[in-house]
Order: sequence, then C-alpha cells, then structure tokens
Amino acid sequence: MDELNTIFAATVTREILWNIPGWARALMYLLFLAAVALCLMGVARRVRYWRQGREAGEPVSLGKACRRLWRDAVLQVRIWRSGAAGLGHALVFWGFIVLFLGTCIVAVEDYGSWLLGREHLFFTGTFYLAVSFALEVFGIFFLLGLVVALSRRKSGGRLRPLSRPVDLAVLWLFLVIGLSGFATEGLRIAAAGGGLESHPFERWSFVGWWLATGLQGLDGNVLTTLHLGSWLGHMVLSMAFIALIPYCKLRHIFFAPVNIALREDRKAGRYLGVSMEEVEETGRYGAAVAADFTRRQLMSFDACTECARCQTVCPATATGKPLSPMKVVLDIAGSSGGGASLHGDEISPDVLWACTSCGACVEECPVYIDQLGAIVDLRRHLVAEGEIRGSAQAALRSVAAAGNPWGMPQEDRGDWADGLGVPTIDEVDSPELLFWIGCAGSYDRRSRKVTEAMVRILQAAGVRFAILGKGECCTGDPARRMGDEFTYNELAGANIESLSAASFERILTTCPHCFNAIRNEYPDLGGDYDVVHHSEFIEELIASGRLVLEDGAPVRGTLHDPCYLARQNDVVEAPRSVLRSTGLDVVEPEQSGKAGFCGGAGGGRMWMEEDTGERINSERWSQLEETEPETVAVGCPFCMTMMTDARDAVDSSVEVKDIAELVAERLPGSLT
Ligand code: SF4
Ligand code: SF4
Repeated sequence: MDELNTIFAATVTREILWNIPGWARALMYLLFLAAVALCLMGVARRVRYWRQGREAGEPVSLGKACRRLWRDAVLQVRIWRSGAAGLGHALVFWGFIVLFLGTCIVAVEDYGSWLLGREHLFFTGTFYLAVSFALEVFGIFFLLGLVVALSRRKSGGRLRPLSRPVDLAVLWLFLVIGLSGFATEGLRIAAAGGGLESHPFERWSFVGWWLATGLQGLDGNVLTTLHLGSWLGHMVLSMAFIALIPYCKLRHIFFAPVNIALREDRKAGRYLGVSMEEVEETGRYGAAVAADFTRRQLMSFDACTECARCQTVCPATATGKPLSPMKVVLDIAGSSGGGASLHGDEISPDVLWACTSCGACVEECPVYIDQLGAIVDLRRHLVAEGEIRGSAQAALRSVAAAGNPWGMPQEDRGDWADGLGVPTIDEVDSPELLFWIGCAGSYDRRSRKVTEAMVRILQAAGVRFAILGKGECCTGDPARRMGDEFTYNELAGANIESLSAASFERILTTCPHCFNAIRNEYPDLGGDYDVVHHSEFIEELIASGRLVLEDGAPVRGTLHDPCYLARQNDVVEAPRSVLRSTGLDVVEPEQSGKAGFCGGAGGGRMWMEEDTGERINSERWSQLEETEPETVAVGCPFCMTMMTDARDAVDSSVEVKDIAELVAERLPGSLT
C-alpha cells in the first residue's frame, strides 16, 4: 500500500515551469524584482504622505483589529449589502486570494525542493489534485466576478459604479490575467508529452483539461510555442499588476484592510473635536492642506475602492449638487501634500456647503472611510476664512449671540409653556425626566405644537418631568455641523453646566439633532447623560401600560426616518412601533430606516439657500408620495419643516405630523 502511495505521489504532479526556457525564467525574476521594487516605492510614497498628518486617535487592540478584518475584509459583510455589486466583489476577492495562495504554494514547492535537493516537496498526489481543483473553481469565481463588475458598468442602474477608462482598464487587466492563466494551463496539459492519456489526473484541472481536449490535433511544436507565449503574457501582466498596486485604485488591496482594522470607533454623528490649545499653538483651524488631517484620516482616504457607493446614496449628488463624497476623498488623496491648498475649483465652498451631514456615505462605505468627517474639517477652514455667507452666516451669528439659530430672545425660550402647567427644574425635586425642548421646539410655531403634544402625553402618563426653561440654549449642533467648533464648545459647555447642576434620571428630546449631540458628543466634553428620543420613550410608556391609547379608524401612512435618529443612532423600530399603536398603517418607502433618504435640513442646510439642482426635500417627498399615504409621520422638527414645505410646493393634501402629535390625538378623550 505504501508503495502504491509513493508511486501515486510521484506520478500525480507536474513539472513547475515546464517548457519555460532559462531566458524566460531570468526575465520573470528580473520583472518580479522590478515590480516589487516599484510597488514598495509606491507604498513608501503613500506612507510619507500620511506621515505629514497630525497624530491623533486611540490605538486599536490586536483582538479587535483581527475581528474587524475577519468580518469586513475576509467575509466582506458590508460589501454584501449591495446585492450584485457585493456578490461581484466577493467573487473577485475570494478568487484572487485563492489564486494568490496557489501561486505561493507553487513557488514554495519549486524553491523548497531546489533548496532541499529533492524532486518534489509536497505538491504531489492528493494534495496536488485538491489544489488543482480549488484553483479551477476559484479561478472561475474570479472571472465571474469580473464579468459582473464589467456588466454593472454597462448598465444604467442607480448603483452603477465609476466607469472611467482607468476603471475599465483595471478590470480588463484582471480578466486577461485570469484568462491567460487558464489558457497557459490548457496548453500545458495539451502539449505535455505522451498525450492526454499519459496524465489523466489532470482532469481535476477541469477548465484546463477541457481546453486541452479542444486543442488535440494541433502540432506539438505549435502547442509548446503557444504555451510559452501565453505564459509570457500572463507573467508580464501579473508583474505589471504588482507594480501598479500603489499607484491607482488597486492600492485599496493594501490599505483597505489596514483602515478596516485600525479605524476609529466613532459614530458618524460624533465628530472629532478640535483642541483649542492646538489651535492657539499652531494658529491653524480646520483642514486647509493635507497635513491638517490626522495620519489615520490620510491613510483612510487611500483605502478608497472608488466603488461610488457613497456617491450613489448621497442626497446632494442625487439632486444635482456639485458634491460627491467619493470625489472629495479622491481629491484629498490625490493632492500633492506639502503646503498645497485643498480648497479650490475641485473642493469648492459650493461642494462643501452642499452636504446635509446625513451620514449616508459613512454608513455605506465598505471600507469605513469617514467622508463626512473630512467635509466638516474642510468646512471648519471655510468658517475660519469667513467663507460662509447669507442666511447660513446669519444663523451661525444668531446661534453664537442669542443661543438659537432664529436670534430669538433667550428670556422667551420658555414662553411656549405658559398656562400648560409645565414645571421648571428648580420646581421639581429629582424628576424622572428632564424634557429638553430644543430651539425649534421652543421658538418655531409649528414645532411648538409638537412640544405641547409631548407635554400632554407626559401628563397623561403621569410622568414626573421638568424643563430647564431659560437655562437651556442651543445644543450647538448647527454650529458644529457648519464647522464652528468655538461656538459649539461655548454652547455645549453652558448646557453641560446647567445639566450638571440639575438632578434628574433621563433627558427626553423630540429633536434627533439635540438627541445626537447630548448623547454622543457631550460625553467628550464631560457631560454624560441617559438621553432618550420621544419615540423610544413613548414606546416604553405604552409597553409598560403607563400610556393607554384609544382605538380609532386606521390611517394609511408612511414614516420619514430622520437621519440623526435612524442612521446615526440606530433608532428604527421605536417610531414604527409607536405609529402602529396609533393605528397608522405604516407603508415603507423604498429608502427607509438606516438606508433612508435625507430630508435636506441637516448640516446647517436648514438655513442655507438651495439654488442648485432639485430640492432634496422635494425629491424625498416624491419618494414618500409613492406609498400613497394619507399622513406622513416625522420625528424631527427640521424634517417637519422640510416635508411640510415640500408638501406645500406640490399642493398636496397629505398631512405631515410628528409622532407625538399622532399619539396625542389618541389620548383618552382626544378622539372626536
Ligand atoms: S453626509 Fe450625506 S450629504 Fe454629506 S456627503 Fe455624505 S451622503 Fe452626501
Ligand atoms: S469612499 Fe468608500 S463608498 Fe465612497 S467610493 Fe470610496 S470606498 Fe466606495
């Protein structure tokens, strides 16, 4: 038996570099050295580029880095979200990895056996057959993935990726490398001495075998010449690929896994702060040149796969604004570094001010690039340079001077509560809830109705609550999103002082922007609170039986998810559950939940003119109207304004109501 096994192992194998003359082998080694040298030079150039950035951010533990690599680099979990595109990329990726491993096995066998002076090392017998079979299967995966990628570039669909000549050239390069690999194999099997019958085990290389059977009948010399030509083509293109990696989009092969492993653990709604000491020391604020970003940010931009997923989901791009988050990333990565300004024709103020800070790009990016963080850093520079004008500048001034974007007097902040029996925090001993009203809920006439509805709900449920009254001012969210970190710090600091002086269990807010700022950003300034959005709190009240709603006739409706609630804070089910309790038959629009389409008001856009392209709120309204609702529910004062404006622009009779208003309508005694 042992003897049989030995014979089996000795015959079931192949000669590595069969039919390759010495000069061709020498050429291969020469090209390999040149390709690796070029590749390393390119990587070193990128590392030098990153090193000009600022040092910042916490290190990532090895365990966490490995878990992230397994999930998002090996299993490609984020990429799978995008259907055919995800499947295509996964096929190319896994195909490539297995083909690369196969090449490594062949190389180790060749050099190992030469070093040890043995005819074969391990690439024989069953192992040879198993590897041969796996390489055929994954080689087919590789080619199929490339076909999917190429056909997506020909389609006109919404998720169509970039189709520049360089993108197509990279795909064709891969395709020719894959095809020439199979061709070389088929020619080798056909040309190897003794005919196909002399090495029937090569059937395990089933694609090569199939090609070889088709080549039977050709002259042996022709076959060996064709084999050498095919091998040379395959080898030269493979070396070109190695050399090209760091110089084009292929560099994501190296840098995407690095970024996936080492990225910052931060939600899109929690911005990186600016150290005022550093600003005083350096006199620099925001990003004017590449060196103003952190090293980790600069590295992350090199991870871009140019898949255009961020651009596809960007509401600004979708409505014809000049902003493409992918282009911002590529423009920064493509900048020459040093003192070259990033701001100019490509990254213009119009590009930067078009962002609604919705975070869809960040959520979608398969390699975890923070496009929004980069845009905010660049906006900070515009603010420092006074490159903010019109109503946005006025809103920013009002926030700084009056503590609210409308410039209303601070002493009027609690006026909405007159006659409603709402106590201030100094009138209640340790209330269960501190009801954070927000600027819109305090001053905007429409949003005040939502505040009042919420008060009726709290009173009906017997919740002990209080408000800060004049002690509350803007959370600083609009200032921060617009790039004014100084005003944000001032306002947040004042609020944290008021909140820390008060005693309460939780903070309730009807505004997702206030919710996000207090929950995710105030902890960085020392204010750590338990914050709840009103949809979550009402859901709790209903579930615990503290709030009972009356039944009424069901109404067909839909929900516009606020970006700062669903996408940036994962609050998706609570609003739906509450709406169902009110009898609303919630019909989902095509884009909803974490994948919802922005209403257009975030990032300070609420106070900016929208004079380019389609209006974002109108685009969203058309999407919602497709569900044929009687009522559109919202859970954000800014969304309320945007959806109401969009509804009025088309003279629709659909009602726009906040979740709290729909609940208040079902309080006992409210139905008529
Ligand atoms: S945050 Fe939203 S609007 Fe801004 S670039 Fe990203 S997707 Fe576009
Ligand atoms: S930034 Fe991310 S989502 Fe956008 S193109 Fe690059 S890899 Fe794709």
